[in-house]
Amino acid sequence: MSIPMSSPDLTAAEIDAVHQVISTPVLSIGPRLDAFERAIAAFSGCAHGVGVNSGTSGLHLAVIAAGVHQDDYVLTTPFSFIASANCILYERAVPIFVDVDRATGNIDPALVAAAADDLARGGASVSGAAARRWLPPALRAAPPSGRLRAILPVDAFGQPADFDPILATARQHALCVIEDSCEALGARYKDRPAGSLGDVGVFAFYPNKQITTGEGGVIVTDREDWRDLFRSLRNQGRDVFDAWLNHTRLGYNYRLHEMSAAMGLAQMSRIEELLARRAQVAAWYNERLAAIPWIECPQVLPETTRMSWFVYVIRLLPPASRDAVMARLAERGIPSRPYFTPIHLQPFYRSTFGYAEGAFPVTEELGRISLALPFSSVMAETQVDEVCAALRGMEHV
Ligand SMILES: *Cc1c(COP(=O)(O)O)cnc(C)c1O
Repeated sequence: MSIPMSSPDLTAAEIDAVHQVISTPVLSIGPRLDAFERAIAAFSGCAHGVGVNSGTSGLHLAVIAAGVHQDDYVLTTPFSFIASANCILYERAVPIFVDVDRATGNIDPALVAAAADDLARGGASVSGAAARRWLPPALRAAPPSGRLRAILPVDAFGQPADFDPILATARQHALCVIEDSCEALGARYKDRPAGSLGDVGVFAFYPNKQITTGEGGVIVTDREDWRDLFRSLRNQGRDVFDAWLNHTRLGYNYRLHEMSAAMGLAQMSRIEELLARRAQVAAWYNERLAAIPWIECPQVLPETTRMSWFVYVIRLLPPASRDAVMARLAERGIPSRPYFTPIHLQPFYRSTFGYAEGAFPVTEELGRISLALPFSSVMAETQVDEVCAALRGMEHV
């Protein structure tokens, strides 16, 4: 039996929950959505949750709520899944990437502070050499006329970004903080839950995440006005008090259907078990890989008072070759993936913004040496053994 890269963890409880929904006439905007939103909000320590049809949709709506308009700027990380930068482009704003901390792969708060100082110094618009050096190369000659509005950190691999200094920078410059917590349901930073660390947080429930709804996401916030705004935006711009087919603003169809919400609710009733199993699988990997000198295991900082394991990503130290390791694993039927590929080096970002290698050295190094191994809550100890035995057998890669 070959080992899958990832796997959802579904039981009779989830199957029953979905069956119950499809025997009723209410397949969208019903009681399961409401209950699921409440469960996610409570679990992440936020007053409100709003379900949407993907994490990407949730991030897009968070960017709108933050008041990010065309030609504005948002500080974010290039070491992430592409959605965390694309959501800025959906509003025709400009992602300003800053490099990451090597230990965690999360955005470097010192660079966030430096970039915010330089970009905000010009006042209403970005001008001057100090500000321009942070801009994408293709925009430096004629910077867009907007202003810096928000910071969008990502909790990479299930470990929260270092939020306290980021929040201090945000306060200093009156910026919104959007937390991409799509990989971090259940994680804690200094005992505060992921999702609650900024002004708004977003979770995602694709089948490889800690819990799944097939496709889906939930936006969490303490702001009641934003909760109402998100409900309107996901539902074609209709306000709660609008008459049928009266549309107050430009909205979208980002609704989460009842089958997904029911599945998510059943998953949330097992959340502690799911997180504990993932932590167990990570511990099995840690034990078996610790002694291999050319492998660096994931590092969990003391500020991360709970790690929520989303993926298990190792680093292959020179002279080990990642391509060779991947090929040798594949020969044994073991999948693995480079993770993440830096966003600024993706073809669309290169051609639109003029990025090339050398722009963000730490991100690029991590992009070259990081390798995600098979990982899920249903993975057996014998499967971890198989992956680790294959790696141990490669002394000359
Ligand atoms: C999974 C993920 C998302 C959202 O993904 P969807 O497939 O749209 O649900 C966003 N950001 C990060 C970092 C993710 O890992």
